[in-house]
Amino acid sequence: MKKQGALEVYLLILGWEHLPKSWSIYGTDPNIKLIEPVPAVLVKLHGGWVLLDTGFNPSLIKDSALYKRFHGRFKGIEAILPPGESDPLLVELEKHNLKVDDIGIVALSHLHNDHVGGLRHFVNHSTIYIQKEELDYGFSSHPIPENNGIFRIDFDDPLYNWQLLQGETEIAPGITAIPTPGHTPGHQSFEISFDDSVGGGGMIFAFDAADLTENVVHELPIGGTINCDPQDTIEQIKLLKIRSKEKGYSLIPGHDPIILPQIQVDLLRKFK
Ligand SMILES: [Zn+2]
Repeated sequence: MKKQGALEVYLLILGWEHLPKSWSIYGTDPNIKLIEPVPAVLVKLHGGWVLLDTGFNPSLIKDSALYKRFHGRFKGIEAILPPGESDPLLVELEKHNLKVDDIGIVALSHLHNDHVGGLRHFVNHSTIYIQKEELDYGFSSHPIPENNGIFRIDFDDPLYNWQLLQGETEIAPGITAIPTPGHTPGHQSFEISFDDSVGGGGMIFAFDAADLTENVVHELPIGGTINCDPQDTIEQIKLLKIRSKEKGYSLIPGHDPIILPQIQVDLLRKFK
């Protein structure tokens, strides 16, 4: 029997972060700064649409008091929204003729504010997949997670329909969640297998297990970690590389300013 997979895959860019490169490559001169894109991935399966990650919560950036309360405490990292007043996630979904109600499944790589800020759109109608360890950490020991860039306001609505994962799980035919802890305690990456009808093959989205192409190619540790020695993050990068090689899938870093816009274009060419 043929295995079902993704019919369409798109990369959304929901904002940018101006930050020291040392957040992405451990040990880099902190005076070197990058503008890194904030991605999400939109996937069409036989059963409907899935969204991987959700970008920033724009209100926490646009409202000066909320900005001060949240982002303003992270000196050296600037959150940047696309121009215009509209919510970037809604704008990007609209480009694909979609509304938030069309998204049946949301899966989160981790709880950082640049990945989970759009979750509020999916209260009470989408199923939200996350590693249990990540959500447990997010709700633990306030304000320690907040000091690590995890804003509880983004995910504490009691009406979220959580599905808690413990380990590697195929969350839907064609999408597998792969635990890659280190950047955060319950971080996960995602493997997407394309449907045979679009030629098979697939991609692995590392998300923040490997921010940049340099992390992947040169097996360099990431700089931002929680309860993990940066050097230990190389292990997850190596495992993802082995997996991508074995399957013949491309391995996509989570915040690379050069490769992500290229992949966005490549996917539009392939699927539109
Ligand atoms: Zn992160």
